[in-house]
Amino acid sequence: MTPGGVNSPVRAFNAVGGTPRFIESARGPYLRDVDGREYVDLVCSWGPMLLGHAHPEVLAAVTAAVSRGTSYGTPTSPEVELAEEIVERSPADQVRLVSSGTEATMSAIRLARGFTGRDLVVKFSGCYHGHVDSLLAAAGSGLATHAVSGTPGVPDAATAGTLVLPYNDTEAVREAFAAHGDQIACLITEAAPGNMGVVPPAPGFNRFLAQTCAEHGALFVSDEVMTGFRVTRFGQYGLDGAVEGWRPDLLTFGKVMGGGFPAAAFGGREDVMRMLSPQGPVYQAGTLSGNPVATTAGLTTLRLATDDVYARIDKTALLLQGAVSSALADADVPHVVQSNGNMFSVFFVEEGVQAVPDFAAARAQHTDRFAAFFHSMLDQGVYLPPSAFEAWFLSSAHDDEAIDRIVSALPAAAHAAGGAAAASERSPR
Ligand SMILES: *Cc1c(COP(=O)(O)O)cnc(C)c1O
Repeated sequence: MTPGGVNSPVRAFNAVGGTPRFIESARGPYLRDVDGREYVDLVCSWGPMLLGHAHPEVLAAVTAAVSRGTSYGTPTSPEVELAEEIVERSPADQVRLVSSGTEATMSAIRLARGFTGRDLVVKFSGCYHGHVDSLLAAAGSGLATHAVSGTPGVPDAATAGTLVLPYNDTEAVREAFAAHGDQIACLITEAAPGNMGVVPPAPGFNRFLAQTCAEHGALFVSDEVMTGFRVTRFGQYGLDGAVEGWRPDLLTFGKVMGGGFPAAAFGGREDVMRMLSPQGPVYQAGTLSGNPVATTAGLTTLRLATDDVYARIDKTALLLQGAVSSALADADVPHVVQSNGNMFSVFFVEEGVQAVPDFAAARAQHTDRFAAFFHSMLDQGVYLPPSAFEAWFLSSAHDDEAIDRIVSALPAAAHAAGGAAAASERSPR
């Protein structure tokens, strides 16, 4: 009926093998599948469910919104209130609402090109920004050469204007701007990468990117679709820009701000945003943009996302990281746990590897060990992201009982990963 049986590839379990679970309902930190099995959820819809599933106040607000009609194609109050909430929490002067993170990054890139009158875009290998043609690019041969298409269907012409650099590599950024600085419209980066597993920016890296862009008249686009309103009340900006005293020119948001509905946004400097249609010449539009049900879900979620919520999730994340690491150490499984705020993930690295700073290092991990770990956790009722290259997501609904269930599943899962490690050592790769 549907290619691969799914509507987004990672759901198909291709990276871990086995059969995807069909989920019928969810509440708090739990998922329930069609066979009635319950799982503690560490995916949280890939980030959005910051408050857990079926939060009563979000449900009540959404139900009330639905009863007033589901879409009008006109301006409405909830979209204005959601924009105000985002502007209050972020360095953006203005935002425009869209329906997916992909649309947000696509529109931000167009706006950056329209504002600067330049065509080139710089991105980092391993950073995911949705399935935008120009951003589905793979590094060409050699540093700072023009990228090639990362998938059939994207013509090389669409990625010829993209430069793909290794993450956390200041020298590569310097070289790219030295060679092409006056043609670069923008540099886009995940504010803190979570789509190659969690690979935090080195201290000062984002500030360096912002400064380098400013020196060359390019815009710095911080993709906060994953980190926005998740890692702090202000997103990743709360961990770096707000502390260090700089701000991105443009930002993109999604996931948490949609409260489990299709809502996303891009925003930033007023002089740049003013270039957007109908105020300016850069065209951008959407039939369901600012949908009243979706924006009500997002607004209600953000209003409930108080300092207490973040403190609670931070605490749970620290506890779980420690528990995962000690279970793997007890089973003699080489690993690195990396975190950025309350987002974290585990890399099943080669013995002796201490850190995973970029995509090349992330790709060097033993995905077979993750697959064994994943399936043991799943069998014990814990739903991890079905890929070694994803962040683990928590919610404020993850209470002591849910955490206990996760922690008590860890020793057997670590043992399973250890078994996979022993097997891969026996058979030369
Ligand atoms: C999820 C994600 C996107 C794409 O969002 P969609 O809503 O899936 O289109 C873009 N950027 C980042 C950093 C993401 O994590």
